[in-house]
Amino acid sequence: PAALERAESLIAITPDFPSPGVLFRDIGPLLTDADALATVTHALAAPFEGGFDLVAGVEARGFLLAGAVAATAGTGLLPIRKAGKTPRPTASVDYALEYGVATIEAAGDLTGRRVLLVDDVLATGGTLVAAISLVEQLGGTVTGVAVVLELSDLGGRRRLPQARAVFTA
Ligand code: IMP
Repeated sequence: PAALERAESLIAITPDFPSPGVLFRDIGPLLTDADALATVTHALAAPFEGGFDLVAGVEARGFLLAGAVAATAGTGLLPIRKAGKTPRPTASVDYALEYGVATIEAAGDLTGRRVLLVDDVLATGGTLVAAISLVEQLGGTVTGVAVVLELSDLGGRRRLPQARAVFTA
């Protein structure tokens, strides 16, 4: 549909950011456009409607989308943070990045909660795989994984066959 095509056209592509050879996809211009933000927020949640009562997003861009989806769906929101920013974290997961390792943390008891995980870009899938195990450590169940853009060359789909992408590049 036209609204989705227009939203997709607002994803900016920047070569050699954050390092040489990387083609960086930036959802910034999409977020600042009211129609595009509403269209994408709806598209992220629609496949999972009724199947979640909490939306989780990984710092930092995942926060923005998780907030928009949670407010629209009328659910709660779980911010998953990078290491060292959560007082008394009750769950922590280390994962591999392209260069180096990272840690994500969160706090709380998610027993019985059905969680929709959202992020801007699915690349290798490492971040979302780590986020799933973090939610599970907290006692929750991940009932959906939704991203704005899947980068199909980077293998994330193999690690997250259940993920739904609004756009694919
Ligand atoms: P992963 O490789 O799927 O774990 O992606 C790592 C993190 O980097 C995710 O949170 C993605 O949102 C982010 N990321 C990877 N590639 C891009 C990009 O081209 N644009 C914006 N974010 C990206």
